[in-house]
Amino acid sequence: MTQRLTGRVAAVTGGASGIGEATARRFHAEGASVVIADIQDDAGRALAAELGERALFVRTDVSREEDVAALVDTAVDRFGQLDVMFNNAGIMGALGPIDATRMSDADLTIAVNLRGVICGMKHAARVMKPRRSGVILSTSSPAGVLGGIGPHIYSAVKAAVIGLSNSVAAELRQHGIRVNTIIPGAVVSPMTAGVVADDATDLAGAEEALGRTALMGRPIQPADVAAGALYLASDDAAFVTGVVLPVDAGLTGASRPSP
Ligand code: NAD
Repeated sequence: MTQRLTGRVAAVTGGASGIGEATARRFHAEGASVVIADIQDDAGRALAAELGERALFVRTDVSREEDVAALVDTAVDRFGQLDVMFNNAGIMGALGPIDATRMSDADLTIAVNLRGVICGMKHAARVMKPRRSGVILSTSSPAGVLGGIGPHIYSAVKAAVIGLSNSVAAELRQHGIRVNTIIPGAVVSPMTAGVVADDATDLAGAEEALGRTALMGRPIQPADVAAGALYLASDDAAFVTGVVLPVDAGLTGASRPSP
């Protein structure tokens, strides 16, 4: 470890599982204090306890602005500041054809995956602007860029996250705050396991299924995405803002392999 985040304070939403968990672990290992934000109390508390010093779990439903405001305030009260806000919590939401969309499912997907990111950006900016420093990261998806690879509403809001992030990056650079988006490819996590293995706890099944279609020899792991998040969060990316970083084995940027 390079201790690239020593003295920094990071909040990670969706931090109890998958990409968020791996990122909380990596940020902590790199010297940051981490605030794990999630609706999974047991897993979030267990992770914070395992990490020990410099780690805290705050139950946060990102679709509720008051929860996100309290998350940010707790990070500042407990650790003195907020340097990195990772808006990563997400749900797959409704699957199926557009004409079968249940609007309650669509509303929930929008609330968690987009409203949650807006809340995170708003409250992170509130405490970062006076310090003229900070990094805001958000998780999009290849489904936000390419058609036909994700559920409709999920794809729509993941595209919106990119637009939001680029727009906010243009506003906040004058305040010394960098704003970037990460696009993970198909990652071995409970979310993916729920789709490809029909069981969110079957990570081995997900790994096997994703291994069969892996573009670069092995499935992408949450830690691979965490490494991208670390780069963007660190001073190595001091002048990197308004970018979309795919950690997706070239799914969105490179041409598709021949059939
Ligand atoms: P995951 O299911 O392992 O983790 C998501 C976490 O978000 C869970 O801990 C869950 O409890 C939490 N969460 C859900 N609703 C929440 C809410 N309202 N408030 C707070 N937390 C909430 O999934 P993951 O694969 O780690 O996904 C993380 C992010 O990466 C998501 O935004 C997802 O859309 C995105 N993503 C994942 C993949 C993939 O292949 N796994 C690919 C592209 C993008």
